[in-house]
Amino acid sequence: MKLVFATGNPGKLREAAEILGEGFELVTPAEMGITEDIPETGNTLRANSMQKADYIYKKTGLNCFADDSGLEVDILGGAPGVQTARYAGPERDADANMDKLLTEMARREKEAAMARTNGLSTGKASRSARFRTSVTLIVDGTHHFFDGIMEGHIATEKAGDGGFGYDPIFIPEGYSQTNGQLGEEVKNRISHRYKALKAMADYLKGQ
Ligand code: IMP
Repeated sequence: MKLVFATGNPGKLREAAEILGEGFELVTPAEMGITEDIPETGNTLRANSMQKADYIYKKTGLNCFADDSGLEVDILGGAPGVQTARYAGPERDADANMDKLLTEMARREKEAAMARTNGLSTGKASRSARFRTSVTLIVDGTHHFFDGIMEGHIATEKAGDGGFGYDPIFIPEGYSQTNGQLGEEVKNRISHRYKALKAMADYLKGQ
């Protein structure tokens, strides 16, 4: 089965090809002559993955899928969420994004501690967070949605230089090291993206 994967990221393409395995041919938008940036202006991860998949389907008429991921931090009310890539600005700078997240969390923790001192709250501030991936698959014009989640918490400082994005400050549940320290091989077996793509692969193979 031929599928267009709405990505220009060779790492993601390789990961998806491995998860799907034999019987699937993945092609990129660029290979289909789509060289412009695909719009992603939705308010949720699902809206964004759907917008990207719809764009590819309208342009090519081919079965296709798109993903969108984000980090949800509980003490920040689920932020940065859909803003994850551009949290500190349009440059999508990973270090600036992590610095902003750690600063915002420290500010919120201080506010929470003050509320506790004043007897306004008894709750303990938590650093719990999760990565979420939303995948939209379009087969013969019908939409199918798959989600993947990696639970964990945010470290107080960066550690490790493996991975990308927020990996140096994210400690997955069941581990004591950050994704940046654990490395790709461990992370790719437990990641939000792996789980969402695996759910899609299982669906397609069950057809
Ligand atoms: P995308 O939708 O896959 O491009 O992800 C959006 C943003 O979320 C990325 O630019 C990263 O900042 C962050 N992100 C997504 N997945 C991961 C991950 O596995 N580790 C660290 N950061 C991630």
